[in-house]
This record gives sequence, C-alpha cells and structure tokens, in this order.
Amino acid sequence: MMDKFPTFSSVLGQDAAISWLTRAYQSDRLPHGLVFAGPPGVGKATTARALAALYLCPNPTGVTPCGKCESCRLMAADNHPDFANVYRQLRRIEKKDAAAKDLSIDVIRQYLVAPANLKPALNHGKVFVIEEAELMNAAAQNSLLKTLEEPFGRTLIILLSDQPESLLPTIRSRTQTVRFHALEPALVAKELHDRNIDPATAEQAADLAEGSLGTALKWIEDGVIPFARQLHQHLNDLLAGHPPDNLADFFKTAAEAYAKKQVEHDENTSLDQAKREALSLYLRLAAQRFRRLLKESDDAGDLDLACTAIESIARADDYLDANVSIPIIFQQLALALTRLTAARSLADRF
Ligand SMILES: [Zn+2]
Repeated sequence: MMDKFPTFSSVLGQDAAISWLTRAYQSDRLPHGLVFAGPPGVGKATTARALAALYLCPNPTGVTPCGKCESCRLMAADNHPDFANVYRQLRRIEKKDAAAKDLSIDVIRQYLVAPANLKPALNHGKVFVIEEAELMNAAAQNSLLKTLEEPFGRTLIILLSDQPESLLPTIRSRTQTVRFHALEPALVAKELHDRNIDPATAEQAADLAEGSLGTALKWIEDGVIPFARQLHQHLNDLLAGHPPDNLADFFKTAAEAYAKKQVEHDENTSLDQAKREALSLYLRLAAQRFRRLLKESDDAGDLDLACTAIESIARADDYLDANVSIPIIFQQLALALTRLTAARSLADRF
C-alpha cells in the first residue's frame, strides 16, 4: 500500500492561492515559472508538492491525482525521478565543509539547469521546487533565466520565498507570483491540538509563531517554547520595573540548548552559527513582546520604553550578523534593557 503525498485539501487556510492554481491548471494556463510568496511555514512547500503530484500524474480526476499510477506511487515514496527539491544544503553533498549559507550557482546548475534539459524519466514533464529562493545570488538567479524562459518540454519551476522582493526583476517578469498569507493563530493552535500537542504548548506556540504552522512545529520540536515562556516572564518583570539580573545568563542557556538540538539534527551544523541563529530567534521574540506593547498600550512611558528596547534589540541583532563576540552582545543588551527600566522606575518616583 502506498504512502500519502500532500493534496490541496491537506493545505491549511490558503484558499485563494489554491483556487488560483487549480483554475490555472484546469484551463491549461499554468505558467512555467511560479513564485510562491509568503511567510515561512504557511504551506508553500506542501502546496508545491501537491501541485507537482497533480502535474506529473497522467490520469488525474479533476484536480486530484489518481494515486495509483507509477508517477503517483513515486511521489508518495518521495522518490520521483522527475521531481526535485533544490535547496542550499545540496552544496554540502559535494563539498562537506562548504558553507551552505547561499543557494549557489553550482547547486542551481547541477540540480536544476542540467536535469531540466534532459528527457523526463516518466515522459510526463518535470517539476523543480527551489526552497528559500531569495538565497540565490545574482549569478545563481541569472543562471536560471534561460530555463525559466524556454524550458525543455513540459516543465514547472516553483520558487518558494518569504522575500520575493529580493528576486531579480528578470526573474519576477518571467514568473507568476502566487501569494500565501499568515494563518489565524486559532487555526494553527487547532492543527497543533490535532497533532497531539498539549493545549498550553499549542496555544503558546501558535501565538508566538504569528500564523506560521511550520514555525510553531519547529519551535516545539526544538524546545523553544519553555524558553520563550521564561523570556516573557523576564520581560514582564522588566516592564514592571524589576529588571532581572540574569538576562545575559538566560540568553546563554537558551542559545546553548537550541544549538545542541540543531547539532543533533545535523552533525555538520556549526555550533557557533547555531548559537547565533538561536540568539537571533530569542531577540526576535523579545522584540515581538515590545512591538505588542506598542500596539496595546497608550501610556507614553510604555511607548518610549518599547521603542528604545526595540532599537537596542535591533542593534544586538546587527552585532550578531557582524560576528561580534556573543557574550559581549548580550552583556550590552542586558545592560541597555536594565538601564531602560531603572531610569523609568526612577522617573516614576518623582
Ligand atoms: Zn497518478
């Protein structure tokens, strides 16, 4: 018995995108190049796989692949010779120690341009899905243009991106953009419940992930939620005029726990890189807390504090990018946040 592959009905809350795609498919007007644009973790990749299964099946009923043919069986087994995911880490398959931060021209040439010019194995077209397409530099994007313009035979190239504006105009003019949007947190929480995640964690993950099911699932798996809870507690204390004295320690512990998980997933992960990723994540969650304060409060002191805090957090994030030593960044940030509320509680007293 075959496993399942995603179908359009397994995509949560993206009715507009799906309806556009199914209409284009049914009227035989799917463009060769598509950009699925929208936040991470809202169903772009699932939709791309569902569309690929449909596109590659020779006997679909309406917009449902038959589920029985060789193509459907291979899609279900995640082993279809005419379907390829193209992603930055492919580079490491060739060069173990290569940094896989960008989606390099080598990867695009080897895993997309070259195979796109070969006859499809099952003789019913090919589908390529480029993940994090915004990570292609100009050279990588340019190497794709000719294939996007005149692919060999029946071909679909789908670029997934949360930053479609960073794609070259030449790419955008050769593709059709399909928009995906953030999901309602209640919908994400329900889906998490349905996947047997305890209600408190589900609610909190859905709230923090701001409408991204994929992000919520990843954060749950990576153990982010309990640390996010602690972070919120620290920030609430800080806002109440009781700056915690161990904020720098908190960031250190949280980052180390996260980095450990990443190394468990992929032994090639750089520990320092994973820590920076973690810190960037907790900075983002801290900034989110202050952004919500900006929205909710009309107290002038709160607003002032939130703006300054967001600026301090943004500065810390810039330092992270600039490879400044991690302990220094967090001492600075903890100090800035602590001073902020100390000044405020002083002002309150007069
Ligand atoms: Zn089929």
